[in-house]
Amino acid sequence: MEKKNIDWGNLGFSYIQTDKRYVSNYKDGAWDEGTLTSDATVQISECAGVLQYAQTVFEGLKAYTTEDGHIVTFRPDLNAARLESSAKRLEIPVFPQDRFIESVEQVVRANAGYVPPFGSGATLYIRPYMFGSNAVIGVKPADEYQYRVFCTPVGPYFKGGAKPITIRVCDYDRAAPHGTGNIKAGLNYAMSLYAIMDAHRAGFDENMYLDAATRKNVEETGGANFLFVTKDGKVVTPKSNSILPSITRRSLVYVAKEYLGLEVEERVIPFEEVKDFAECGLCGTAAVISPVGKIVDHGNEICFPSGMEDMGPITRKLYETLTGIQMGKIEAPKGWIHVIE
Ligand SMILES: *Cc1c(COP(=O)(O)O)cnc(C)c1O
Repeated sequence: MEKKNIDWGNLGFSYIQTDKRYVSNYKDGAWDEGTLTSDATVQISECAGVLQYAQTVFEGLKAYTTEDGHIVTFRPDLNAARLESSAKRLEIPVFPQDRFIESVEQVVRANAGYVPPFGSGATLYIRPYMFGSNAVIGVKPADEYQYRVFCTPVGPYFKGGAKPITIRVCDYDRAAPHGTGNIKAGLNYAMSLYAIMDAHRAGFDENMYLDAATRKNVEETGGANFLFVTKDGKVVTPKSNSILPSITRRSLVYVAKEYLGLEVEERVIPFEEVKDFAECGLCGTAAVISPVGKIVDHGNEICFPSGMEDMGPITRKLYETLTGIQMGKIEAPKGWIHVIE
């Protein structure tokens, strides 16, 4: 398909309407066959479950062009599985995992002109989501749902190199123990908006959330998991039931062990220990890893030895290895690269 006339290198991270999206509706206990549509709007009851009680979950993944010219996605099976567990937690009927993959493929193929070329740094961001669509006034799950997948081209996350960011320890909580922190639901983001704007107003890039029960242990930021590197080169990442199981983080842990031969610990990380780490990064689909240079805890600064100019050396190795695998420069573990065309 002919590429759209887009200045790929200067795209930001904002919504651009593309040609087609996928829609399937759930009614009378079953999902319909689903279809691609040009209609970028959603028409639902003013009393829809999603509007009244936030019954909605989502996923985020990207399609991109590899060096040898294929359009691929990265581990979409894990997005399918995670959407299933998110849906179950909010009493939303599961959209079958094989149909999830198929719908993503359909949307990418129908919008192939929007998939950025190799080397541009840009990607096609794909957003599958589902929501309660019929009227619900008493508090209960909806009876009808819509599953949709749209995509939008987004620019390179790091323009002009990955500059380390400064984050603060946040006084607000992100997720309760045994709550919904481990699912990808809009409700987890709604309640983080005040905290992130408050952080920005105070001059910080992001919030570090601590565990809500004790406020002693590191959890995650609003939209990315933490990876730390110890001074003796071990990779350490928080273990908690209230963080979102990032596919990027799980992939980086595998890369650290199997490709780089590093020791990896997934465990509770007391905030007290953070000052002793050598490197810190945030992992998620958008950036893969964003380096953190400084963490501020109510005026006390933790400055990582990696500094404010560049990624730490091990963070960089992890970043380069995983992006090399994604782009087809380094051989991928079986099943990680899903070729669409
Ligand atoms: C989506 C998300 C992440 C990152 O997950 P990836 O699968 O790596 O993109 C991390 N934390 C939260 C809260 C998220 O919603």
